[in-house]
Amino acid sequence: MNRLKQLEEHGFDIPTQERAREYQRARLLLAALESLALLGLLLLFAAFGSAPLRDWLSRSAQSPWSVNLLYTLIFGLGLSVASLVPSWRNYQLERRYGLSVQPPRGWLVDELKSGAILLVIFLAVFPAIYSGIARSNAWWVTTWAITTLFIVVLSFIAPVILMPLFYKFVPLEDRELTGRLERLVEKAGVKVLGVFKMAAAAKTRRAVGALAGIGRTRRIILSDTLLENYTPEEIETVVAHELGHHAHRDMWKLIAGQSALALLGLYAVHLALEPLAKAFGLGKDIARLPLFLIIFGGVFFVLSPLSNSLSRWFEGQADQYALQLAKKPAAQARVMVKICDQNLRFAAPHLLLELLAYDHPAGIKRVERVRRFLREAGAER
Ligand SMILES: [Zn+2]
Repeated sequence: MNRLKQLEEHGFDIPTQERAREYQRARLLLAALESLALLGLLLLFAAFGSAPLRDWLSRSAQSPWSVNLLYTLIFGLGLSVASLVPSWRNYQLERRYGLSVQPPRGWLVDELKSGAILLVIFLAVFPAIYSGIARSNAWWVTTWAITTLFIVVLSFIAPVILMPLFYKFVPLEDRELTGRLERLVEKAGVKVLGVFKMAAAAKTRRAVGALAGIGRTRRIILSDTLLENYTPEEIETVVAHELGHHAHRDMWKLIAGQSALALLGLYAVHLALEPLAKAFGLGKDIARLPLFLIIFGGVFFVLSPLSNSLSRWFEGQADQYALQLAKKPAAQARVMVKICDQNLRFAAPHLLLELLAYDHPAGIKRVERVRRFLREAGAER
């Protein structure tokens, strides 16, 4: 109960935070079951389905290249279909807790779109690896270079091609607010970025403030669920936080981090795929793909506490930047509290849980940072 007392003292709504904790537990349990089920499915397929599928395709296909392409297509489709189950359960959970307000039909359409995107990525990557690159000993270096290029391209097109597939974006129109934000951007001394309103209210109750894109596509995104529920002062602190990410070049750091993870993942595949494939009786061909994904995904999973810690550190720095830029500590503290309550983010997790699963600092720590800023500002006077 100590934790709840602390939360109350920091301004959080206690019944909402109790619900947030309950939601978090259910979400974590579901995520753990999902990962285990996916691992089990991939192992089963590697043991019993992968080689027969390759052989069946080899009998009818003209060239190894087309075997690889067809195998990837069928495997990718299967994976998308299998992932519908956990995704549906997650959607149901979000509905139960009032986070998602999307009708089932819309949910399905979104699922089909993300399945199609996954399939396109699979088809662009794996047949190429298996039809040539994998033959060289340094295949993982070449693949890493291509993957990095891919991450950069995806980051560039995300706000203009990928995200509009799911949400509508329009430039922010509110004159009063735009004026405030322009003054803030000027004060930050960064090149003027577009501020876009994201139409999220038909799908979710969550409030979203984010930076997206790189180079000429970079922009600040504010969801209508945020714009409608927050005062102009509060929105200023959200934008100041995003400008902090921009000033610290966090998008590029994120890309570099993902690229480094990919390098480690591919190196692990390089080391472990051969013995693992042998154990499954699989040769040097596309039938190893499920094992490839298990090793590669395993590296991301094992290192996620590290990537989450880095992310929390960047987020803390952006909060600090926002305090110094917008100089609205009271409003900033209110935003931290409101966003945690609105998005059902439990604000006082156990330290270990924060380390493992939080990509933003715990809400209570974000409020603490504001209080520290106030104390230091008071001491300066
Ligand atoms: Zn942030």
